[in-house]
Amino acid sequence: MTARVRYERVLLKLSGEALLGDKPFGIDDAVIDRLAGEVEAAVGLGVKIGVVIGGGNIFRGMTIAANGGNRVAGDQMGMLATVMNAIAFEQKLAARGLRTRLFSAVPMPTICETFNQRSAQAAYDAGDAVLFAGGIGNPFVTTDTGAAMRAAEMGAAGLFKATMVDGVYSADPKLDPNATRFERLSFDEAIGKGLKVMDIAAMALARDNGIPIIVFSIKEPGAFIDILKGGGRATVVAG
Ligand code: UDP
Repeated sequence: MTARVRYERVLLKLSGEALLGDKPFGIDDAVIDRLAGEVEAAVGLGVKIGVVIGGGNIFRGMTIAANGGNRVAGDQMGMLATVMNAIAFEQKLAARGLRTRLFSAVPMPTICETFNQRSAQAAYDAGDAVLFAGGIGNPFVTTDTGAAMRAAEMGAAGLFKATMVDGVYSADPKLDPNATRFERLSFDEAIGKGLKVMDIAAMALARDNGIPIIVFSIKEPGAFIDILKGGGRATVVAG
């Protein structure tokens, strides 16, 4: 079944921003339903998939720190935000009849499973849609780092970073009309040029574990599936 796909084992990083739709804050129900459809299509292709969900649509620790507050407390609030998003997303996946598992790096056993690599790996290998919340469970990093770590732990062949544009650009294409798009980059180029692919810690983890980062537009319906099948439009950071 998986002979038709370019990437058989993936980790998808969905930022909180991807769940916003046109709203300034929170979760857009129609948007997360569509995103659940993308995951359903991937599972339908036989792709093993884990999803790391961010929390920036609700809370970011940096925002608290920037206003003179306690960064650790802010980061803890941010981690909790990712769990809320993951619960909402799991509901949409389950409504489509998918087998799901939700693991949090922050233990909250009355709500979901506490992350455990072996249990998560077994679910991932069995073809369940596995959701990872709570980042890595510690402050001073973001869910990008969590995504790279879970990708390595699951043995993913690609780390898919969903963004609002179709790849990595030399500058923000929304602000700079001369921004150019990269088709392919090495990790050292991306890090050296200071390009906003993912956090440096996430890129270093992906690089050291030989996992390419595929940056693509989640606003484009079907783009994720096209790339999984070997086509589509994305910037690949590898090597
Ligand atoms: N966070 C954290 N540790 C982690 C993951 C996340 O402290 O391992 C906090 C951090 O404050 C972060 C917030 O949770 O800003 C939400 O995650 P993130 O900013 O990655 O969300 P995204 O930008 O993907 O929506």
